[in-house]
Order: sequence, then C-alpha cells, then structure tokens
Amino acid sequence: MDLMKRTILHLDLDAFFCSVEETRNPELRGKPFAVGGKPKERGVVASCSYAARRYGVRSAMPMSRALRLVPNLIIVSGRHKIYSDVSKQVMARLHSLTGLVEQISIDEAFLDISDLRDKNPERLARGLQAGIRDELHLPSSIGIASNKLVAKIATEVGKKAAKGNGPPFGLTIVPAGEEAAFLAPLPADMLWGVGPKTSARLTELGIYTIGDIARWPENEFIRLFGENGRDLARHARGIDDRPITTERETKSISQEITFSRDVRDDSVLQKTLREQAAEVGRQLRKEHLAGVTIKLKIRWPDFTTLTKQTTLSQPTDQEKEIAEVALNLMGAVRRSGQAVRLIGVGVSGLGPPIRQLGLWDVESDKSRKLQDAVDILREKYGDKVIHKLDNEAS
Ligand SMILES: [Mg+2]
Repeated sequence: MDLMKRTILHLDLDAFFCSVEETRNPELRGKPFAVGGKPKERGVVASCSYAARRYGVRSAMPMSRALRLVPNLIIVSGRHKIYSDVSKQVMARLHSLTGLVEQISIDEAFLDISDLRDKNPERLARGLQAGIRDELHLPSSIGIASNKLVAKIATEVGKKAAKGNGPPFGLTIVPAGEEAAFLAPLPADMLWGVGPKTSARLTELGIYTIGDIARWPENEFIRLFGENGRDLARHARGIDDRPITTERETKSISQEITFSRDVRDDSVLQKTLREQAAEVGRQLRKEHLAGVTIKLKIRWPDFTTLTKQTTLSQPTDQEKEIAEVALNLMGAVRRSGQAVRLIGVGVSGLGPPIRQLGLWDVESDKSRKLQDAVDILREKYGDKVIHKLDNEAS
C-alpha cells in the first residue's frame, strides 16, 4: 500500500450522550443540560449540551461546579446501554462503507477511504453526516486528511470553529501537502503525546504552537525528549504513517456487566470477575485462541471508566489464570467497599495457544485436559451442572 496516497476520514459524534438523550426526550433540545452523576454524589459531567457549553460547562467537570455556572442546568443520569446500542448503529453505517474502520471510542472512528469508488471525499463526508443525522438523528463532525493525526485534529478544529448554539456539524478537509501549514498555528498541546508535563517543558523552551515545534531541528528534539521527541517532531510536520487498525487485529474477547444497582460488596465483585473470566476462557478455547493481555474494566458510579491491563509472558486461555490477574488488577485500583457500576474482564493480543509440553508444563497440561473435559460437559449439560461439579471437587 502506498502510504503517501491515503485518505483518512475521522468521524466524531457531537456531544454524543446529550444528542442521544435529545432523541429520546425532544424537550431537552436547545436547553442547558448535562449527562452525568448527581452533585451530592460527587458526580462529574460526562457530556454537556451546546447550550450548557456556552456558559463554560465542560465534560469531566464536577457537576457541582457546572451547577454554579448554570444554576438551572438540567441533570440527566446516563443510560450507557442505550448509548452503546446507538454507537453500534453508527459503526454499522461506517462498516457499510468500508471494512477499514478503526473505532477509537464509543463515538469516534477512523476510516481509510483511499480505495472507495467515490473519489470525492467531501461528497462522501456530507452523505455520511446527512445519513447519520436523518436516520439516527445525531450530529457529527468529520475531518479528512492524508493521515490519522491530521484528520483527528481537523475534526477538532472544525468543531471549535463552529458558530451558533447548535451542534457544530463540522467538516474540515486538509488537502495532501498542506498538513504542516494547517497544523502550524495550532497550540502545541493539540498534538498527541503532549500532556501537561511536556506542555510545560515546551513553554519553557518558548514553544507555543505546533509550527514552533516544526521549526526546531529534529535532532535537538530527540536530544531533549527522547523517542517522544522524534514523534513530536514528525507529527508537528504533519507526518504520521500509522495504518488503520481494524477490529479483527485489535480483537479481544471480553465480558462485562452493568449492575442494575451499584455494587460495593467485595465478594460479589470477585465472584462476578471469576464468572466473567470463566466465560472468556471458554470462548477463547472454543475459537482455539489464547491471549497475552488481560484487561480489567471498571466504571464508577460517576461514569468515569478505568481500564487496567497486564501482559503475561505467555498467552493463556485458562480461566483460573485470567481470573487471578483480573482480581489482582481490581485489588490495585479499588478500595474495599468502593462502589462499582460496571465491571468487566477481557483478553487481547490473541493468537494460537501454545500447547507444547515442556518439562515443567506437566501440571498445566493436566489442568488443560481437565479444562477441556469441563468445556465438553458444559456444552452438553449447561453451566449449573458444572458449577456444582466444581464445588464438589474442591
Ligand atoms: Mg464526540
């Protein structure tokens, strides 16, 4: 593939949670409201309407502060099941255009549209925006450029440039060859990898814009910031060769549950994780896969979501190993008794399982054989029987 000739489209739904809420409750339209947790429960803003943004309300802001800015702010508690269903509909639309879709969050994706028959990116983008607006009633913004970095920043710039009280419906196209010129006037911290620390260091050096970075010799930047400096220097010049990573490549097998009521009980959470690990292990073995990375996902009552992962030295498809790692991860991020809204466990970095029988693997081979037998029994008799057998055996 010729990387020079790529056309990458980045799509981001505008104020996604709020837009979904407006489709369910049209009375909210045009009003200042926010989706998130209650101020008494130290809730934060997960998403806020454009009317609320005019008063300075922003996502991740404590709800109590948002209320001080907008005393008549309407607070809507989030319904993540609905958001995730709607997100799937949007992603299905994108997949109907091309298989080269990389979803990066619930409301954001990259598409490689280089090889689509419609060679006019603007027409394609307008059609996509109109389809999502007319059929799913959702506003979205799009950025198009020769790579992911510039396309994503183009979307952000289009959103910021929008005027009026409604959603931005931005569409920003950066022609090939114009990348560096487009980025040059933008603040340096719009680049990936520029967090508060790097940002402060850049300011010390008198660097404020992306163009300021691009003017520095690359070697100097590498000397100052190491490998990160090399990326910064390249990105500032609008260079980014990363391909679209499709779902199949980043595939993971996971299980998660949103509790109908927040759970504080340690033993309930531990039991849930064990059951999820068992199901993940079973699916892995069914697909003849094993994975090296085990990920724990927790959503707190204020909707902030945390993921923490560990990479093993060898791929696994064994539920006990998955459960053990997941439980350790939970122990590392959660205080005993701390309330949890959602919990999940997943395995990624998938490949064929390693089944060589080494000198030291006799025990694990034995447990694998037992596991295989249990799987067959489960298929035959269902979960309940096996739980009973497990208990009796231990
Ligand atoms: Mg968004």
